[in-house]
Amino acid sequence: MSYEKISNYIGGQFRDPVSCQYLDNYEPGTGQVYSLIPDSDERDVADAVMAAKNAAAGWAAMKNEDRSLWMLRLADAIERDLEMFAMAESKDTGKPVSLAKIMDIPRAVANFRFFAHAATQFSSEAHYMQGTGVNYTLRMPLGVVGCISPWNLPLYLLTWKIAPALASGNTVVAKPSEITPYTAYLLSKACHEISFPEGVLNIVYGLGQKTGEAICIHPDVKAVSFTGGTATGKRIATVAAPMFKKLSLELGGKNPNVIFADCNYEEMLKTSVRSSFSNQGQICLCGSRIFVERPLYKKFRDDFIKKVESLKIGPPDAADTDMGAVVSRAHMDKIMSYIELAGKEGGSLLTGGKPVKLGGKNGDGWFISPAVIEGLGPDCRTNQEEIFGPVVTLTPFDTENEVLAWANSTGYGLSATLWTEDLSRAHRMAEKIESGIVWINCWLVRDLRTPFGGVKNSGVGREGGMEAMRFFTEPKNICIRY
Ligand code: NAD
Repeated sequence: MSYEKISNYIGGQFRDPVSCQYLDNYEPGTGQVYSLIPDSDERDVADAVMAAKNAAAGWAAMKNEDRSLWMLRLADAIERDLEMFAMAESKDTGKPVSLAKIMDIPRAVANFRFFAHAATQFSSEAHYMQGTGVNYTLRMPLGVVGCISPWNLPLYLLTWKIAPALASGNTVVAKPSEITPYTAYLLSKACHEISFPEGVLNIVYGLGQKTGEAICIHPDVKAVSFTGGTATGKRIATVAAPMFKKLSLELGGKNPNVIFADCNYEEMLKTSVRSSFSNQGQICLCGSRIFVERPLYKKFRDDFIKKVESLKIGPPDAADTDMGAVVSRAHMDKIMSYIELAGKEGGSLLTGGKPVKLGGKNGDGWFISPAVIEGLGPDCRTNQEEIFGPVVTLTPFDTENEVLAWANSTGYGLSATLWTEDLSRAHRMAEKIESGIVWINCWLVRDLRTPFGGVKNSGVGREGGMEAMRFFTEPKNICIRY
């Protein structure tokens, strides 16, 4: 069987890996290999860094307006082929194509457009000293930066890093997840088609410990923007921090969804189904621990289960599928092991949590019915560790202080959702909750200007808006005495 080979994109050229070795790329909906990924090593990374270094001065010197235009052209090229990108993302990840069409690909386009405009709007500070002089701060591009992204929102998160890095005048060596490389490849084809300046964006594929780590330790890579698991973030910090590289680490989560009895019930119910199971629960912002005020608990549990059971698990490429496949065999095994653990810890599985066998070409795909578990304490492993799949727990609570302590009881602190019509309580809770993002009476509402990131083991640094532009630049203060 011969499969399509993905190529590295280095210095504007499509290249085989130096080793000529390839890795299998699976389609989660069928469980079959469908393409091959370069198994790149430090030699490919060195070539990519060299290409990025050669392009750095020209890209940094280019007028902001012109850099912005290049990025807008790239956004247009993706948008023109939105359908193709969405189909590819669905095939590569197992997510419903409908989700890729309304979320992943439009967001990738929006990321390039937003930061194309940021390139022309970014400004720096001046500090006036009365009667003495003035300081002004230059925000200089760093040079070559590394962007490493995970598998759950492949193009969406890759572009969320690449776009501000480019907008602020850096050249990039990017590494998408080896599990979901395909839309990055389409992005490189779009760059090639519009003759995007050579060497400005380079994409190298391969394994984390080999290709990813080679980027992190390359002396000419001045900063690493990473999104992925907490253990990987720790490893990257271990190798890159002693080299004094700038690091932005967006890591895992175990987010609470706190529901008070006075909430707008219908809105909460509908959104909680989404915040639990969108993308098969594989969004770092999904609320996997649902806490419900006791007077509402039984009603919520019954209505929630009814809605969850009505979700259609189906082929990722079918228009009416609500839940597709999880991303890999290994990830499916991990999710199933947590469902088993929940049982051992005393939890009751109220619905789902079983492998689902679809027919036809999807017979060997990695499908799991959405699991709802109750009866677990907040401190058990099921409620403390990130599962990152279609699994939520339900826990009743009695007081604000109690639920706040439970919400804050994990090592993570990425996002939280609060449902209440009591304005004072909403603000009080939002202030005390330990997370980088709090959504009140909504979920995943995004304004690209806002700071995005987590506290505790969920990460270091913030992405989004001018925070990202500041991360990808080095401030230099210039002081003039009168
Ligand atoms: P992962 O950490 O396994 O891999 C992420 C990326 O890092 C991949 O490209 C991988 O190849 C690379 N990598 C692995 N080891 C490396 C190393 N030693 N050096 C350099 N690169 C290395 O994560 P994943 O399984 O792809 O993604 C799931 C995780 O990502 C979950 O924990 C999820 O919560 C997290 N996530 C966080 C956010 C956020 O914004 N905070 C967003 C999405 C996903």
